[in-house]
Amino acid sequence: PGTLYVVATPIGNLDDISARALRILREVALIAAEDTRHSARLMQHFGIGTPLAACHEHNERDQGGRFLARLEAGEDVALISDAGTPLISDPGYHLVRQARAAGFAVVPVPGACALIAALSAAGLPSDRFIFEGFLPAKAAGRRARLEQVREEPRTLIFYEAPHRILECLEDMRAVFGGERQALLARELTKTFETLKGLPLDELCAWVAADSNQQRGECVVLVAGWQAPEGEEAVSAEALRVLDLLLAEMP
Ligand code: SAM
Repeated sequence: PGTLYVVATPIGNLDDISARALRILREVALIAAEDTRHSARLMQHFGIGTPLAACHEHNERDQGGRFLARLEAGEDVALISDAGTPLISDPGYHLVRQARAAGFAVVPVPGACALIAALSAAGLPSDRFIFEGFLPAKAAGRRARLEQVREEPRTLIFYEAPHRILECLEDMRAVFGGERQALLARELTKTFETLKGLPLDELCAWVAADSNQQRGECVVLVAGWQAPEGEEAVSAEALRVLDLLLAEMP
């Protein structure tokens, strides 16, 4: 049987594609792509003539069988998305799941990923972090999601669309507080790449004052929650137990 290769493509700078990725994209029988027209340009740039077939969120579940049939026939298939690593806020999950469930080899071919690129240069704690993907588009949903991670001690990583970046940062300031350290990583690997690390108060003001910062693709990182100095962090559960015990005291 064939192998399903999950291949990362660049997030901007085309030189970021790996030699191994290029070799595999050339050698496979078929490339399953999120957007075939978008990927056709990438393939043209690298002189790769492998046929492309659509594999996006709307057809992935139903069309999976088509790709599995090719694997069954002994052909190798590569899965790519429009940019970066497939499955990371991108399609591919259902196909990978189906392929694994059917017993086919699924092999990662790693490369660019915006969240990892941003974290690697952010100077925020990187030993433990959580990736929250895209926040809900509407303010109420977004705030509710942010509330859930308000006291998360690990570094937080979010993806955001440029037209929502300011309202998103302002909601973060409202929920996490203006002192909390954050970093905006915009247009990574591209001409106007910008990494700006500031407390949320200042980051909001900086983005509000410069409309150029409200364009392009961006990743937002926020430092994890730290118990205020001098105060011991007491868990909600400990406080609940304490309350129960106090009630029993004579
Ligand atoms: N699969 C991709 C990856 O591996 O990073 C992510 C795809 S997701 C649909 C697109 C989002 O990723 C953008 O809205 C932005 O948050 C982030 N992103 C992608 N490319 C980026 C770049 N060059 N600079 C900053 N953020 C980027």
